[in-house]
Amino acid sequence: MKYRPLGQTGLEVSVLSFGASSLGSVFRDVPEDEGVRTVHTALDLGVNLIDCSPYYGLTRAETVLGKALRSVPRDRYYLATKCGRYGATPADCDYSAARVVQSVEESLHRLGVEHLDILQVHDIEFADIGQIINETVPALHKLKQQGKTRFVGITGLPLRLFRQVIQQVEVDTVLSYCHYQLNDTGLEDLLPFLREHGVGVINASPLGMGLLSTRGTPDWHPAPAAVKHACARAAMACAACNMPIEKLAVQFACAHPQIPTTLVGTANPDNLRRNVRWIEEPIDLNLLAEVRQELVPVHNVTWTQGRPENN
Ligand code: NAD
Repeated sequence: MKYRPLGQTGLEVSVLSFGASSLGSVFRDVPEDEGVRTVHTALDLGVNLIDCSPYYGLTRAETVLGKALRSVPRDRYYLATKCGRYGATPADCDYSAARVVQSVEESLHRLGVEHLDILQVHDIEFADIGQIINETVPALHKLKQQGKTRFVGITGLPLRLFRQVIQQVEVDTVLSYCHYQLNDTGLEDLLPFLREHGVGVINASPLGMGLLSTRGTPDWHPAPAAVKHACARAAMACAACNMPIEKLAVQFACAHPQIPTTLVGTANPDNLRRNVRWIEEPIDLNLLAEVRQELVPVHNVTWTQGRPENN
């Protein structure tokens, strides 16, 4: 496993990190012991950053992750979780300072730890951005001063919001998802700005939450139909070369030298082992060019979520 520095945090994070949303059964029903084994497999393979949220499986992912971490020394991993989003719609979100403080106490309890390494505001596009700047992020900074978390950040889908917030309030990290993968490289344009502001970037969803998979997308997947079809064609092109598209997708996302870490989600220990093995293998450049060509018509085509004014 290779490690890269995460912005100015001083954390050296594994280039492939573990997204724990799958422990909340968001893709399929995951038995608890399988989730626990996947976490231990990830740590044994050198993954040192784990990302979670109270939203994932409506607290189930944090609860299962807490069970997995109970037997693991606290200095073996960096733990990130989030606050503010607790369900699928804006009505399920609460970005007030009071809720953030309560949320973190609940997360620490479920996770069975005394402190977090990274606490991020979950999906800022669901919020009034003025509140994020003036209330939510300042509340996170207070929690940092109190030792509840070592670093603070924001997460979300629309890239332009990161610029807007970071120009007005300091954060240590951002988590961007579905913007550095085979069909979408929009995150690249933001990297110089983040570097200038000393912000560490966490890239998530190298498989586009299932877009770039042999299995195809789950029903809830928000991508437009044209993107789903193009990704399905790309998966077939890979299959014709005996290459699972997952391999090319994970290799591509983890290869960017200025993206310190990429969070992949799986609750299957074998998938995790494959992902770690794949990033050590050379990428097939000819197939990569063919697949990216197939995806040109939908390159950087994304979707909207959250409040209309934030998209
Ligand atoms: P992903 O792109 O990592 O895809 C996950 C899917 O790919 C799952 O269905 C999994 O079973 C499958 N998969 C993984 N490895 C595989 C393999 N080797 N072979 C076949 N299938 C494989 O998407 P994700 O899980 O949504 O994202 C990863 C993590 O990033 C999440 O768990 C979460 O921690 C984080 N994330 C955060 C946000 C946010 O903060 N707003 C949004 C998205 C993701």
